[in-house]
Amino acid sequence: MSRRHRDRSWPSADAVAPLALPVTDNHTHLPVPGLEHTGPGSQEPLTAAELVERAVAVGVTRTITSACETPAWEGSIALARTLPGVRVALAVHPNEAVLHAGVRETGPDGLEPAVRDHHAEPLDEAMSRLETLVRRSPDAVVAVGETGLDFFRTGHRGAAVQREAFRAHIALAKEVGLPLQIHDRDAHAECVEVLLADGAPERTVLHCFSGGPELAAVCAEHGWYASVAGPVTYPANDGLRAAVGAMPLELLLVETDAPYLPPKPWRGRPNAGYLMGQTVRFLAALRGLDEATMCERLERSTREVYGVW
Ligand SMILES: [Zn+2]
Repeated sequence: MSRRHRDRSWPSADAVAPLALPVTDNHTHLPVPGLEHTGPGSQEPLTAAELVERAVAVGVTRTITSACETPAWEGSIALARTLPGVRVALAVHPNEAVLHAGVRETGPDGLEPAVRDHHAEPLDEAMSRLETLVRRSPDAVVAVGETGLDFFRTGHRGAAVQREAFRAHIALAKEVGLPLQIHDRDAHAECVEVLLADGAPERTVLHCFSGGPELAAVCAEHGWYASVAGPVTYPANDGLRAAVGAMPLELLLVETDAPYLPPKPWRGRPNAGYLMGQTVRFLAALRGLDEATMCERLERSTREVYGVW
């Protein structure tokens, strides 16, 4: 079947039956009004308000949206102040840090860097604006992130920039006493090394956890959380399932990382919070728990990391 015949539309609002108990999508990317969106679902966009309404209707009652490009910061904070159950994680994404630092490299993914106007702002200025905004918005910002390392998208110079930016975010999270959400793409060992060298924040989350049992053991040892997204449902990811199966239950969180990475039945289509129940049910089966117990445990851990709102 050729590419253009694939169904890339949003799954229907009732694709996943409501969950037994409320849960939180602790990492998503809600569309910010006024910004251009090019990702999955952007051809027939749903607004942040529509997405949140659909999620709440099926038991995904709280959402943390990751604003990790500078143009998304203010608009995401505004979403937190207007939409039910929404809060923000704020950061400069590792791939964004590279562009703010003026590095132009092609990584293993082979993609040209997508440089845009906002990357003219030097990285240190963006970081200091970030700190100001985090300190000024305690009603909206509940985490620093996503930050970390992404060796898929950049070369050696970019990796060095990412490392320093990661360290600055770790320091910020500790200074302001917020949890840290980590983006780790093809960089498990290096992420762990930086966290151990600098000292991880008290509440540290590996978002869209993609490691195997070895990384799960490191997380368990240090009390770091693994936030599980749609890929746990993909047939090829046996190592990930073994890792998630081995994690202490109290260190598991759940997320969508929408609009990317929908659970298996909707691969290739846009993802959203209203589909996350599929991942929650998958986790329940994987851990041998009933659905309500899984929801309750996930929500308890989410409260421990991010608090209550
Ligand atoms: Zn993300």
